[in-house]
Amino acid sequence: IVNFYSDSDESDSDDSAPASFGDRKKLALKLLETRKTLQIYKSRHELMEHVLSNKVTVLIGETGSGKSTQLPQFLLESSPDEKIAITQPRRVAAISLAKRVSEEYGCTLGKEVGYTVRFQNQSSPSTKIKYLTDGMLLRELMLDNDLSKYSTVILDEAHERTVLTDLLLGFLKNLVQKRDNLRVVVMSATLDAERFANFFDGCPILLVEGKQYPVERFYLPTGADDIVDTVCQSVVQLNSSELSGDILVFLAGQEEIDKCVDVINEVADKVSKKVPLMVPLPLYASLSPIKQQAVFKPVKPNQRKVIFSTNIAETSLTISGVRYVLDTGLRKVKVWKPELGLDTLLTTPISQSSAQQRMGRAGREAPGKCFRLLPESDYSNLAPQTEPEILRCDVASALLMLKKAGVDKVHRFPWIQKPSKQAISSALLKLYALKALDDNGKITDLGHKMAVLPVTPHLAGVLIHGCQSGVAQNVIDIVACLSVENLLMNPHAEVRDEVNEKRRNLFPQALKHGDLALLHGLIRMYMSMKDSKDRTLLCKEIAVNQKSLKNVLQIRQQLRGYLEKVCDLSENDDDKADFSTIIKIFLAGFINNTALGSSDRQYRTVNGGHKIAIHPSSMMFGKKIDAIMYVEYVFTTKGYARTVSPIDLAWLQEIAPHFLGNRQRDD
Ligand code: ADP
Repeated sequence: IVNFYSDSDESDSDDSAPASFGDRKKLALKLLETRKTLQIYKSRHELMEHVLSNKVTVLIGETGSGKSTQLPQFLLESSPDEKIAITQPRRVAAISLAKRVSEEYGCTLGKEVGYTVRFQNQSSPSTKIKYLTDGMLLRELMLDNDLSKYSTVILDEAHERTVLTDLLLGFLKNLVQKRDNLRVVVMSATLDAERFANFFDGCPILLVEGKQYPVERFYLPTGADDIVDTVCQSVVQLNSSELSGDILVFLAGQEEIDKCVDVINEVADKVSKKVPLMVPLPLYASLSPIKQQAVFKPVKPNQRKVIFSTNIAETSLTISGVRYVLDTGLRKVKVWKPELGLDTLLTTPISQSSAQQRMGRAGREAPGKCFRLLPESDYSNLAPQTEPEILRCDVASALLMLKKAGVDKVHRFPWIQKPSKQAISSALLKLYALKALDDNGKITDLGHKMAVLPVTPHLAGVLIHGCQSGVAQNVIDIVACLSVENLLMNPHAEVRDEVNEKRRNLFPQALKHGDLALLHGLIRMYMSMKDSKDRTLLCKEIAVNQKSLKNVLQIRQQLRGYLEKVCDLSENDDDKADFSTIIKIFLAGFINNTALGSSDRQYRTVNGGHKIAIHPSSMMFGKKIDAIMYVEYVFTTKGYARTVSPIDLAWLQEIAPHFLGNRQRDD
């Protein structure tokens, strides 16, 4: 089995960065030659003339034309006093760009060029070019409403239209009017730039033309039954039929990506020695930075990179050497279910504009090929554009940020596209129920504290409440587990019963208190093991994703750090794990996610009376319980509750009597 990653690799430090001043300068000079070949480099004088003479500019250009890496450096060359913030929707992109630009600039990462993302900061007072996630810039904005330390703010990947980018657009619109010395550049990979330009009162639109070679397109005669199977077969086939060039595969999420990497790892050295050795590499947001960087590293001449990615590689990251794109046409998106009042993560078809972008990745350096794993007729039926997140997601977090930043009348905020009235009022009600807002809709002390924590308002409430109840660390451990994707994996059907049995035996408290107790037990047991072999064995036996668990360990430290800023943790006793108290604390945050058991193991949500079943992955599956609380709602063939804990009806009455009253009336 070819295994390119060592699982004992817990460190995120990158040894490949040049250590000495001389080496750094040498590398920067070498990279300058590459920079000079970028389209944007050739037109930099003209470009800078426009950018410097306008307060707001929209800059569009093909992915890979050099916008994200070069524009901040051109600005810094134009004036050494510049302090530039450049935002990315994804942390992977922020980290990777900062690393690349620090090398091009010739400094240590974190000095003149740095980054700030949730749970990680590599910047210092001397940082002139800072890459940050849009969420982190919003957090800075809440502390300093004028963003006074920056002379230029660049919103990158604006076409992605995340809720956070939309919020930043609104704030910046106000801010350029208020601050004379602020420059804003909005960058987008698609031609849909008019909306941004109109929003900023008709500011100029600049276009960087990138080189794009022709890409041949192929479709499947019928839809794929099993995506992982179809992808892996296609990869092996491509590897033997096409000569040179790397393969980039777009999949919906981490689970499918990990499976594909495993399959290709297994077959890589079993196929003919005459074809290149396939080097499968995963690429998704929750991967550690050092592992993400692996996709940029060249492989040996007789090897071929096969990168399995989420839509991160659609426009955020450009990987050189790619000549073939395999597109499943799927991605995972958060969708708000108004009838349930919550967001759920759904695998959905991409839009035609996304499919075009993905295809474009194959033609950056030479003519390429794009294989769409769907029939052409299905492609024609895809929506032309992706709907912006603000129109389909829960906006509670967004509104809390606005309130924290002093925007009381959220309806009057300069939205680039305004969420529906229903979405706004439902989010305000939710914040009110969480006591983040008072009767007048003003942000409370609790709301201020919640807005500082980098998790959803529900979980922020849970953390603060946990701290006040003296069980902070227990709550932090569970919240950290909930902050990563795919911690508890879905075991294969043949071993599912065995794994579940082991989970039950190892964590008996979870039989009584449900999946939150399982998470708590898991993290405590893992940490008590000192030998890394024991840790790996534990994860294997009970189908736990060890990569995710390692992330959990980091996140719990970070969360404690954030929580310390708003609460006094000195009175908290770590050993006091009383699950009734802990689950009641979660219940106060997840009161909307409750359901009552009826006959034949069916459940109906307390809010709305919708049918819901306990997901088979839960420790509570198959049990008859009066009332449950769940952290996650997933919809596949029907609605499922995941991460389930049993609750007492008396608790519901205690925490939200009005809720129960409504339901009984509805019945
Ligand atoms: P754009 O923002 O227009 O999409 P970028 O500035 O991100 O373009 O990329 C410009 C070039 O820099 C691309 O050819 C890309 O391959 C290269 N590049 C960007 N980030 C990295 C990295 N972390 N490692 C190696 N090359 C990179």
